[in-house]
Amino acid sequence: MRYIEEAEKEGLTYKDFIFKILKSEIERKEDEAFNLRLKRANFPYLKNLESFDLNFQKSLDKTKVNILKEMNWVDNVYNLILLGPPGVGKTHLMIALGEEAVKKGYYVFFAPLNDLIYYLKTADENRRSREMVHRMERCDLLLIDEVGYLPLTREDANLFFGLISALQEKASICLTSNKDFSQWAELMLDEALATAILDRLVYKAQVINMKGHSYRLENRSTIF
Ligand code: ADP
Ligand code: MG
Repeated sequence: MRYIEEAEKEGLTYKDFIFKILKSEIERKEDEAFNLRLKRANFPYLKNLESFDLNFQKSLDKTKVNILKEMNWVDNVYNLILLGPPGVGKTHLMIALGEEAVKKGYYVFFAPLNDLIYYLKTADENRRSREMVHRMERCDLLLIDEVGYLPLTREDANLFFGLISALQEKASICLTSNKDFSQWAELMLDEALATAILDRLVYKAQVINMKGHSYRLENRSTIF
């Protein structure tokens, strides 16, 4: 009704009227689809690239960020591995890129490694876990946060390996870790398995070593 009244007031032609209605309907549908993809992506919070300070994080520059933002690497199923100590912006960058991907229409799923393993372990008896595993297996870009904070059992590492293998050449994986690759064997308790996982992950990948001080420590806020 609103459209008809507006059209009468503005004196639109039939053609312009139909065009206006279709355009607003398409925008509404796109908005709905975006919101649904964003919800399914499971981000713990949102971060964007605009607020990522490249003067603070020197391992990247504007050109590189723009290349990542274009998402050709997701189309070509490259992985992105962000390494570095706590507080250097790994999770911020990963979530910001994830949101860009959602905007561009990709299916994205975020999980810290320990949650991800929990979903895999409990998928048979837990509906929510099953749903999460389903999303992981169907996404274009899987974001795995905090690889290396807690050691994995052999069963955990095997499940992780199974997922990486299943997604190979099908979905891009972006992961963050505070451990160098040389420390992964210790993390997974099994050198052969750690090597097999790394081998698949880095075969087509960009590794970014994010150095520097903790942004948290240098930009602390206090109560008093
Ligand atoms: P990490 O995952 O490497 O431990 P986070 O991405 O969680 O670090 O960053 C810690 C906090 O510092 C977050 O609030 C994040 O937004 C902020 N931060 C880190 N690096 C930057 C940066 N280069 N520009 C702006 N904010 C940053
Ligand atoms: Mg983090």
